Amino acid sequence: MPFDCEALQDGCRMQEVMDKGAGTQGYDPVRNVVIVGGGTAGWMAAAALSRFLGRDRTITLVESDAIGIVGVGEATIPPIRTFNSMLDIAEEDFLRETRGTFKLGIEFVNWGRVGDRYMHPFGAYGQDFHGVPFHQMWLRYRALGGDAGLEDFSMCIAAAHRGKFGKARPGEPTPLQHIAWAYHFDAGLYARFLRGIAEQQGVVRREGRIVAFHRDGESGDVTSVEFEGGTRLAGDLFLDCSGFRGLLIEEALETGWEDWSHWLPMDSALAVPTANTEAPAPFTRSTAHAAGWQWRIPLQHRTGNGHVFCSAHTDADQAERTLRENVEGDLLADPRMIRFTTGMRRQAWNHNVVSLGLASGFIEPLESTSIHLIQHGVLRLIGLFPDRKINPTEREEYNRNLRSIFEFVRDFVILHYKANQREDSVFWRQMAAMSVPDTLQHRMDLWQAHGRVFPKEADMFNIPSWVAVMLGQNVTPDRYDPVADALVEKQLTAALADMRTRYAETAGRLPSHETYLQKVGAWA
Ligand SMILES: Cc1cc2nc3c(=O)[nH]c(=O)nc-3n(C[C@H](O)[C@H](O)[C@H](O)COP(=O)(O)OP(=O)(O)OC[C@H]3O[C@@H](n4cnc5c(N)ncnc54)[C@H](O)[C@@H]3O)c2cc1C
Repeated sequence: MPFDCEALQDGCRMQEVMDKGAGTQGYDPVRNVVIVGGGTAGWMAAAALSRFLGRDRTITLVESDAIGIVGVGEATIPPIRTFNSMLDIAEEDFLRETRGTFKLGIEFVNWGRVGDRYMHPFGAYGQDFHGVPFHQMWLRYRALGGDAGLEDFSMCIAAAHRGKFGKARPGEPTPLQHIAWAYHFDAGLYARFLRGIAEQQGVVRREGRIVAFHRDGESGDVTSVEFEGGTRLAGDLFLDCSGFRGLLIEEALETGWEDWSHWLPMDSALAVPTANTEAPAPFTRSTAHAAGWQWRIPLQHRTGNGHVFCSAHTDADQAERTLRENVEGDLLADPRMIRFTTGMRRQAWNHNVVSLGLASGFIEPLESTSIHLIQHGVLRLIGLFPDRKINPTEREEYNRNLRSIFEFVRDFVILHYKANQREDSVFWRQMAAMSVPDTLQHRMDLWQAHGRVFPKEADMFNIPSWVAVMLGQNVTPDRYDPVADALVEKQLTAALADMRTRYAETAGRLPSHETYLQKVGAWA
């Protein structure tokens, strides 16, 4: 599986956390949790905390309809399924309520060179053989003159290219076991859906604009937030889900922001929904333009589009023209501008404030990772849930872990820019020439020598994801790993020919994506 099971492990630890301290002398638990913000981050946190830590605690969520939410997170990665199932959410209900669709990966157009096209699929490529990663066998097969592309060995890609979807029945020996999926959905509807769950589990929602905060004179911890009109809301632990501004983590605590825009200089996005022109495809598309890229996210009732660009290389008018010229259906609204700076909070958890979502950091949505970073933060917080007197070691562990996962995403996204051979604009030439973080350079060097990828603790994308982007963007290793020579040539070519045929035949038999959604009762 290309995705780790960390979230699941966190979930298993939850029961221990819930039981911790019961009957312990001197135990001073957090009784009042205040969540500031009701976007995706706020309601994901509210739903999960009330599910696992709601007993004997008051959880209050404050949001302001006048301020609203950013509302553009629409594509996800597979671990969101774990999050939903931890909340006992049935997949078909979730898809119906959020007008969601299945996502088998992301198609990248014009990234390596103009005219190139490849897919980053969620499932694995082929089958590893006695521990030899499949892509090494494929590299050897190519060195021997084999003509099949790597994409011919991905069940996800075979289905995605045909606009199909299906799942294996448990235990059924079929290549469908290699399908992994995530979702596209309407972010506003997801927040509303989670709100229903959270409120049922006892979360209290307070509508209103927070205009001030109060801190303890001695510890510096936040003690309360203040609404327009002067009413205060006190808490032991505050979750800052207030979006980019970071109402508590930054405005109250001045935690600081680590700016990564020298590696990822995209600072603007124009987002617009369009009418569907065809049945929704089961994959996201990312098309590179002269100074940025455009997403296409197909939902049941509309398509989400957006142009992420670097304002130092193109102005807003040109960016909007590019967006309008490249969307497929009629615009359902005027394009909406969102400005951002890539980076992360110096500490995601400072004093008694834990920031989540945009308040904690932002990396452009190229690999649809922001909602996952929220999920990861929420589950880590539950796994390290503090007492009223916060243990600094637990807080540091949280910050260390969040930093490593943010840095992982940063490196993976940078790779898409660094590994380009486009000559058509200054922007792309600068991106190809930039120096990258040492952590990424190390991975690229390892890849270049023998096509090797060594997953690390914080890796949320595993070997096939690195392989997809490296090979998809024409970064071919000097040589394959010599362990691939262990296979007899005839066996290798026969095994690959068999796999290729089985993937294609299996995909051919699947129902269309839309038919599948209808068949399982997920179509709204
Ligand atoms: C262009 C773009 C595209 C994206 N695409 C994706 C994607 O495809 N996939 C993905 O995973 N993620 C994506 N994201 C990220 C995703 O949108 C966010 O991670 C997600 O929406 C979480 O936002 P949030 O809840 O942190 O903040 P917001 O949605 O901004 O919510 C902030 C909340 O705080 C409240 N608030 C703020 N100030 C106050 C105040 N003073 N008083 C009371 N309440 C207040 C607001 O009312 C609101 O409820 C994208 C982001 C951008 C910018």
